[in-house]
Amino acid sequence: MQKDIVIIGAGPAGLSFANSLADSGLEVLVVERLSSAELAEPAYDGRDIALTHFSQRLMQEMGVWSLIPEAEVFPIKEAKVMDGDSPYTLQFDSEDITENFLGFNVSNHLIRKAAYEKVISLDNVELLTDTSVTGVQVNTGSATVTLADGQNIEARLVVAADSRFSATRRKMGIAANMHDFGRVCIVSRMEHEREHHGVAHECFLYGETLAVLPLSSYESSIVITVSSSKAERIMAMSADEFNQHVENQYRSQLGKMTLSSKRHPYPLVAVWANGFVAERFALIGDAAVGMHPVTAHGFNLGLRSQHTLARLIKEASLVGEDIGNLTTLKAYESNHRKVAKPIYLGTNAIVKLFTNDMPLHRLARKALLRFGNNFPPIRRKITQQLTESNS
Ligand SMILES: Cc1cc2nc3c(=O)[nH]c(=O)nc-3n(C[C@H](O)[C@H](O)[C@H](O)COP(=O)(O)OP(=O)(O)OC[C@H]3O[C@@H](n4cnc5c(N)ncnc54)[C@H](O)[C@@H]3O)c2cc1C
Repeated sequence: MQKDIVIIGAGPAGLSFANSLADSGLEVLVVERLSSAELAEPAYDGRDIALTHFSQRLMQEMGVWSLIPEAEVFPIKEAKVMDGDSPYTLQFDSEDITENFLGFNVSNHLIRKAAYEKVISLDNVELLTDTSVTGVQVNTGSATVTLADGQNIEARLVVAADSRFSATRRKMGIAANMHDFGRVCIVSRMEHEREHHGVAHECFLYGETLAVLPLSSYESSIVITVSSSKAERIMAMSADEFNQHVENQYRSQLGKMTLSSKRHPYPLVAVWANGFVAERFALIGDAAVGMHPVTAHGFNLGLRSQHTLARLIKEASLVGEDIGNLTTLKAYESNHRKVAKPIYLGTNAIVKLFTNDMPLHRLARKALLRFGNNFPPIRRKITQQLTESNS
């Protein structure tokens, strides 16, 4: 088989990239180890993804946004950050941006479902499911992708979107810096007695971080981040014990809280690939940059990576250039690196500071929140950056 581009992985980043190539005139193959049934009806995985305005625009342009039921898109009107035992909050709201909301929460499985529905409607994209890529070899003029059944596919460009633990990245000899936080994120949904009014909370408690993200008026997405050993204890709690635990940690701000979904644990490892490209090869999504979820930027960056790469490839193709040429790929790498690096490093620094409960760090944590509130230009800049607003 011969294609212009082979995409490895039909996760949200790989599918989005295929969708961005809809009008490119390029023949695209997406290879995914999951079945088409799993892609068509992805199981709920506990992740509610906070999407920025830029991400929303990209999904609209791809024709994916309209495939997500409107009732499943939840606006975030305000965000409050709290530290330790203090009721003091650093506040972010839409006054600092031109849009009415800070962003939107959408369940990860619905993003994947919508992206898949769009991909299967495209004439230039073929999807090969139930099979893994086992090898990639770059030759002069083309690359060869080998599948688990031994089949070889020739392509001008291979793009890996095969997760933060990308086996293809490793096979291509691209090293990555990985930081294992030794912590686990437990995500679930909970119903509550009182309305949240669209307010998101990030509570950096001592020994535990709790995020409460607004869904429908009386339901929120709950993200608990704790050490791996404590995560085991929390996962082993009965539903009643868990409800009480979250309600206590949240100081009953929303009244009585009740689990409304399963709990899903995610070990936290941040990944930064040392290179995003090689000859006829590029990394997108988590395969390039795998983020700690505290700043809710993983998929937002993934969407941006695929958008940047698709734009440059389409430009190269339009003027008759080889789409696998290293100059185009390097332009993608430098563009995405510039955007992603400050967010990646900033996120890791926040995690480092706000998960250290030593007295000096506690002081610094509190001072930082006050500094943010008392210097509006700084707060505005952070709000604009985190929401990727137009302003
Ligand atoms: C708890 C949690 C909360 C999060 N919250 C947010 C948030 O609020 N905002 C945000 O922007 N991001 C968030 N993220 C990050 C977001 O979920 C990820 O960035 C995103 O899912 C990554 O998508 P991806 O397509 O790059 O990779 P993945 O979703 O990992 O998909 C990779 C795909 O590749 C396939 N694959 C792997 N190897 C092969 C192979 N050899 N052959 C064929 N197929 C293969 C896999 O089966 C899979 O389908 C969160 C993450 C977590 C864990």
